[in-house]
Amino acid sequence: MERIDAVVIGAGVIGLAVGRALAREGLETIILERADAFGTATSSRNSEVIHAGLYYPSGSLKARLCVAGRERLYAYCAERGIAHRRCGKLLVASGDAQRARLVQIHAQAQRNGVDDLQWLDAAQLYALEPHLRANAALRSPSTGIVDSHALMLALLGDFEAAGGALALRSPVETIDAGGAAHRLQVGGDVPMTLEARIAVNAAGLWAPGLAQRTAGLAPEHVPRARYAKGNYFSLAARVPFTQLIYPTPEAAGLGVHLTLDLAGQARFGPDVQWIDPATPDAIDYRVDAGRAAAFEAAIRSYWPGLPEQALQPAYSGVRPKLEAADGSMLVDFVVQGPAEHGIGGLLNLYGIESPGLTACLAIADEVVSRLAT
Ligand SMILES: Cc1cc2nc3c(=O)[nH]c(=O)nc-3n(C[C@H](O)[C@H](O)[C@H](O)COP(=O)(O)OP(=O)(O)OC[C@H]3O[C@@H](n4cnc5c(N)ncnc54)[C@H](O)[C@@H]3O)c2cc1C
Repeated sequence: MERIDAVVIGAGVIGLAVGRALAREGLETIILERADAFGTATSSRNSEVIHAGLYYPSGSLKARLCVAGRERLYAYCAERGIAHRRCGKLLVASGDAQRARLVQIHAQAQRNGVDDLQWLDAAQLYALEPHLRANAALRSPSTGIVDSHALMLALLGDFEAAGGALALRSPVETIDAGGAAHRLQVGGDVPMTLEARIAVNAAGLWAPGLAQRTAGLAPEHVPRARYAKGNYFSLAARVPFTQLIYPTPEAAGLGVHLTLDLAGQARFGPDVQWIDPATPDAIDYRVDAGRAAAFEAAIRSYWPGLPEQALQPAYSGVRPKLEAADGSMLVDFVVQGPAEHGIGGLLNLYGIESPGLTACLAIADEVVSRLAT
């Protein structure tokens, strides 16, 4: 039986950031990852946008950790030479109803401490982006893009430099929580039992499932996982835009937006497709080419010049949504530690959807502080 200070389950961007923070606290830390590489799930299936923090409800973890995490992330990228660009984004509106929604978003952004948004009227927008069709826009200069793989590589490098170890092909099957140490059964090539004073469940889409397999954790603390797939299409043509373009947000997602990668290649998405896989391991990430028509219609609402037949299925990711016991959808990140469930040294992270990538460093700080209390 191995004994260690801290175990983190899952080597996505969140598990890597949390492992790094714990190791830098001087704790002997292992990250256990069931796949044969880090960052193969949601952390490599997203828009790679550094969000400014406009939309999230006041006082929510998303609002606080996105705004704090964004600045931490820009500083970290600069310090570690991680490719990124503060390219800005335009949030566009057509018609009075969408403009009214932008007014609400502007007010919410200010409440969240995002005070650099700029209003553009139709003439200013035309001068900036003549190919866009909209009569008003909000420009967010602090939105950007980041190379998520390079970010994870840097986090892993820091983690290992602080003495941490990443164990791949190491699925955690069960946790026996409580007592002086938590006991984890780990399967894979070399099954083993680990004892750790601290256990952090950063298993992403699979976190609620692992929590259900955690003896000692009362079932009322485990939210139900719901999955909202987001599909992306890429464009086999040049786009006339240099910043990100977002329509007014829709339910469960931010609308079919245009993001750019660091090479300037455009992609559109993600849409919202609720899925119900038989098991979380049966998620089908393939993109149905038949969804292109709906994408074209959504994109043409703000970019009428989208060339015909230019969209190609690209990739997809799945948002880890959560349902409460009463059937309502939870809209915030859930960081559940000893103060919530009463078990010392155990911390579960649920529903870490967007803006989790942006907020990863701030989420890691939050985890460390919740474990200390
Ligand atoms: C479509 C989409 C677009 C997004 N766009 C953005 C964006 O532009 N900007 C932004 O800030 N955020 C964005 N996000 C959110 C961001 O991608 C996530 O918040 C983040 O990647 C979550 O990371 P994670 O480490 O929690 O999860 P994951 O990356 O899924 O990592 C979890 C890891 O746990 C492992 N695991 C699971 N079970 C076990 C087990 N029992 N034992 C061992 N290992 C296990 C998995 O193999 C996986 O590697 C987006 C998300 C989606 C779905």
